[in-house]
This record gives sequence, structure tokens and C-alpha cells, in this order.
Amino acid sequence: MTFENSIAFARKMDRNDPLSSYRKKFIIPKHKGKTAVYFVGNSLGLQPKDTKRYINEELEDWGTLAVEGHFNGRRPWMHYHKFSKKALAEIVGAKSIEVVALNQLTVNLHLMMVSFYRPTKERFKIIMEAGAFPSDQYAVESQLNYHKLNVDTALVELKPRLGEHTLRTEDILQSIDAHRNQLALVLLSGVQYYTGQFFDIKKITEVGHRSGALVGFDLAHAVGNVPLQLHKDNVDFAVWCSYKYLNSGPGGIAGIFIHEKHKNDSNIPRFAGWWGHKENVRFQMKKGFIPMQGADGWQLSNVPVLAGAAHLASLKLFEEAGILNLRKKSILLTSYLHSLLNEMDPKGDKFEIITPSNSNDRGCQLSILMKKNGRKVFSGLMKKGIFTDWREPDVIRAAPVPMYNSFEDVYKFAHVLSTLI
Ligand SMILES: *Cc1c(COP(=O)(O)O)cnc(C)c1O
Repeated sequence: MTFENSIAFARKMDRNDPLSSYRKKFIIPKHKGKTAVYFVGNSLGLQPKDTKRYINEELEDWGTLAVEGHFNGRRPWMHYHKFSKKALAEIVGAKSIEVVALNQLTVNLHLMMVSFYRPTKERFKIIMEAGAFPSDQYAVESQLNYHKLNVDTALVELKPRLGEHTLRTEDILQSIDAHRNQLALVLLSGVQYYTGQFFDIKKITEVGHRSGALVGFDLAHAVGNVPLQLHKDNVDFAVWCSYKYLNSGPGGIAGIFIHEKHKNDSNIPRFAGWWGHKENVRFQMKKGFIPMQGADGWQLSNVPVLAGAAHLASLKLFEEAGILNLRKKSILLTSYLHSLLNEMDPKGDKFEIITPSNSNDRGCQLSILMKKNGRKVFSGLMKKGIFTDWREPDVIRAAPVPMYNSFEDVYKFAHVLSTLI
């Protein structure tokens, strides 16, 4: 595909975009009365217009049915966790039994580590990427402390080679192999939040398993952004949040994946709650926890229905649009951005794109490392109604989201950026 640096070309791309109608299903923020360019769906996805209706329906049922809404609501609250399964399973490439929406991401990461990080004297190391999202770092550090392990010896952090910004798959695999006698857990992100790198989940999982470790992924920046195959790739567990690419609202309900192979393993320790108890006897309120099969058995509490409603409103759009179609558009959209950026600064004097240049190794986000005046350029974009985000020390992250961003958005962003640098 040859891209052209013109608004006419961008508009032509939008006219030919089979998913262009989805933009109208979202509320796009305004800036000084004009529609803004919103490239921060990697931080907080936009609100689908249908979300209000979904939440209002639950408020209505609560008002008119009160406690009876658990059974007689239009989406009975008792069964709320079931309604998101099909869409989530499709998005992460899983079977229904392997996924469930619950809690918040970091809470889920702790729950998963309780179950899947079981250090022994011989096997106690965790491999993760250096510079992982802080919440993940704190979660892992505190888990190590909880097991009375020393962070310096138990935590292996993967760093890019000198002068490089992203990790080479071969280096990740080699590191896993090098620690194989002591490795308990490989815990990486699916798409790295800072660099936008999409890791090779299949290979990492394979080599992790060959090394005798369990393998989990934090998919905060991958879910709804790139197609996933968690079941086929044999990943042990994964966690994600729903307020980024899944557009389910600030603090929205998160989710987990637990591979089917673990569904009946009673040796797996877990922190339990009544919503994970065998469903047909849950209300007998008896002593002795009997887990539901699969991911459901990790549920603790009944579902926060208002957040759950927002989740369903958004997932419906993913079911309709299809994650593979979204990916197809996403590759074009981000490649267009990549090409306009390269054209603007061919020698890389002003900035450097640290996200991998191969589409297969990234999601929709490009991370632009600014060589000078980065903060000023970032504020300049904001003043022109272009939402990006700033990550210390010097990176502007821009995420054209295929669900609601347009090629014209990309053109406008690049055009304003070129005037600012
Ligand atoms: C966004 C994000 C989080 C946020 O955690 P919450 O528990 O949802 O507040 C954690 N980890 C990663 C990798 C993220 O990208």
C-alpha cells in the first residue's frame, strides 16, 4: 500500500473503510467546539453511545424490581458474569470456560499469582520485562516479599540491548532458557505499554514451558487491540482491564483467562469467594468451598452490574465488528501514521519511533521519543485539540484506534505535529 500525505487521500481511505460506521457509535470529545483527534484509547477508551442505555436499563430494573432483578431483570444479575463470556472468549482466543470478567486488573494479577506463582526452594524466579507497568512491578515485588524472597535474586528483568528500545524475541527466549533450573514464572505484557511492542506470546509460552515454568501475560494493552490465541498458544493465565481498548469506562470491570488444562486441578491454591462456588449449591450457604470449573471458580464476589452493563455495551460492538477486521484496519491506520511520521523527519533528527516498525510486532500505538522540546510539542498538540499522552521522560504515545479513529484523524495529527516540530 502506498500512502499519500494529503487530506484527500485520508478521506478516500475513510470512504473505503468497511468499519467506518463504528465511529458514529461513539461519543468523540470536542475541543473548542470542534471534534477532537483522540489518540488515547490506550489509556481510556471512548464511550459508546449505547453505554448510557445499558446502564439506564439496569438502573430501571433496580428501581422497579429491586432484589428481584437478580432473577427477573432483563439481564438477570445472578448470571451477569455469563453474558460477557462469548465476546471475551473471541477477543482473547479462548474457550468460554477459560474466561470471566471480574474485579480489577491488579487485583486479578494478585489472584493469579496466588494460584500460579508457587515458588519452591529450587524454582522461585520470575522473569518480567524491565520497566513493566508500575502496578505490575509493585504486585510482583509484594508477592516476592509475601513469600519472603529477595527481589534481587528472585526477579529477573529483561532489558533491551544497549542502544535499542525494545526486546528481541531471541533474547527473551535465551534468558528464559538460561534460568530454566530456577524459573517458576514468566510474566510479560502482551503489548508493552511504553514501547507498544507486541510480544511473541506463542514462542515465549513454548520456551517458558520447556524450561519448566508457568507462563502468564498482562494483556492490558493487548486486549481489544491485537488478536490473541491464548488457548492455542497454551498460555497458563492472563489478566486485562477493560477501560483501555475495550471501551468499558473508567475503572471498568477487568478479566482473566485460565487455560482449560487447569480447570480441574485441585492442587492449585486460590483465594476463594462465594461467587466461585459451585453454582447449583451456592445458595445452600454451606461450609467447604467447591469451585466452579474453569475461570469462573476464581470469582470472589457478585458482579458490579453497572460496570458490567457498560462492559456489555462495548463488547457488543466488538462482536459485530470482529477483532480480525479491526486488526486489518488497525494495521493500515498505524502504518499510515508511521509513514507520515517517517516522511516528516526522514533522518530522525527530531524524534525516533521506538515502537517496532513491523506491523506484526506492534498493536495500534506508536511511541515517539522526542529528541527536543518534547513536552512543548505535546502541549502544542493538546492546544490544537489532539489528545495524545506523555510518558516521562520523553515519549509521546499516539494510538489510532480502529474502532473509532479515522484516516483523517491520522492525517490531522501528522499535519499539526509537523507544524510544531
Ligand atoms: C493500565 C495498566 C494497569 C492498571 O491496573 P489497574 O489495576 O487497572 O488500575 C496495570 N498494568 C498494566 C500493564 C497496564 O497497562
